[in-house]
Amino acid sequence: MPIAANGKPAPPVRIGKRDPEKIKQAIRLLLEGIGEDPDREGLRETPDRVARMCEEIYAGIGQDPVTIFKVLKEPHDDEIVLVKDISFTSMCEHHLLPFSGKAHVAYLPGGSRITGISKLARVVDMIARRPQVQERMTTEVAECLMKALRPKGVIAVIEAEHMCMTMRGVKKPGSKVTTSVVRGCFRKNPATRSEALSLIFQR
Ligand code: ZN
Repeated sequence: MPIAANGKPAPPVRIGKRDPEKIKQAIRLLLEGIGEDPDREGLRETPDRVARMCEEIYAGIGQDPVTIFKVLKEPHDDEIVLVKDISFTSMCEHHLLPFSGKAHVAYLPGGSRITGISKLARVVDMIARRPQVQERMTTEVAECLMKALRPKGVIAVIEAEHMCMTMRGVKKPGSKVTTSVVRGCFRKNPATRSEALSLIFQR
C-alpha cells in the first residue's frame, strides 16, 4: 500500500478531485526538502497560497473539453475558420514549470457545423490547465475539435517557450518549440494545408 509523507497509509488517489490539504502538506515538505524553514515569516502562508493557485492553474484536470462546444448551423463548409494567437500558459508535467505561448486552431467545417469563435479559446484554456507536454496538448486540441464538430479537417499549431529550458538544464531563453497536428482534409490535401498554414504564419 502506498505510504503518505506522514508515514500513515496513503488515502486512495482520486483522479479529477483536488485535495487542498494534500497540496499544503506537499508544499510544506518541499520547502523543508530544499532546506528552507516553512515557518519563517515569508513562507508561512505559502502552502495555502499554492493550494489556492492550484485551483486555478489545474482547473482543467478531469474536465472534458468536448462539452464546451455548442454546435451552430451555418453554411460555411468550404471556408477555413482560423483563430490564431490564443495565448495560454500550461505546466510542463516533467518539471512542473510553466510553458507559455500561442495556439492557432483552424478547421474546415463539415455538414454546416460551426461553433462560436470564443469556444476555441476556452478549449485551449481548459486543455492548458493540466500538467501537460506540448505535443499532447496540441493533439488534444485537434482531437476534441474533430470529435465535437466533425469537421472536414483540423490544424492545431502551438508555439511556446518552456521555463524548464530557460531557467534550468540547457538554459536557452528565447528558444521556442513549435508543434502541429493535422487531421482530415488538411492532412490529405497539400493545397488546403498550405493555405491554412500560410494564414497561421503570416504576420
Ligand atoms: Zn519540462
